[in-house]
Amino acid sequence: MITQTIANALNSQVGREFYSAYFYLSMSAQSDTLGLKGFASWFMAKYNEELLHAMKIYQYILNQSAQVKLLPIDQPPSTFEGPLAMYEATLAHEQQVTKNINDLIDLAMSERDHATQIFLHWFITEQIEEEATVSEIIAKIKLVGGRGDGLFMIDNQVGQKVSLPATTSSAAP
Ligand code: MG
Repeated sequence: MITQTIANALNSQVGREFYSAYFYLSMSAQSDTLGLKGFASWFMAKYNEELLHAMKIYQYILNQSAQVKLLPIDQPPSTFEGPLAMYEATLAHEQQVTKNINDLIDLAMSERDHATQIFLHWFITEQIEEEATVSEIIAKIKLVGGRGDGLFMIDNQVGQKVSLPATTSSAAP
């Protein structure tokens, strides 16, 4: 059993994970419109991952016999200047999510809720990986500058990389 304070905080995090999914779905659509199919599949894989994050917390709340309370999901931006802007927005967003997870752990610590702290460790590891991957893509995009041929090469590379992890993550929530 978790306290109401923890349940409320976790329900807010479920909402933020759904917002993340929405945010990446929007960028997937824009990448597709720009003809960048690799980036589009990368953002689509992110969308699926975020849904899994939301559902993981949702299931934890239920397992702890607390009440799931779904909150409204904000509208994500629908236009971005291009791939660099999208990946920079992704990094800023993931850094904010990392902060949210840290705040949740601080709260769980103050409530002496060891189960929730352990549960959230998975998310900390996940955030380290997310930030590293996104930083790597940003560095590559910056390297080619505005050159179309370089961008298409990265688009291709990024698209190939997602096909495997996307399948793996959807098979193992
Ligand atoms: Mg997430």
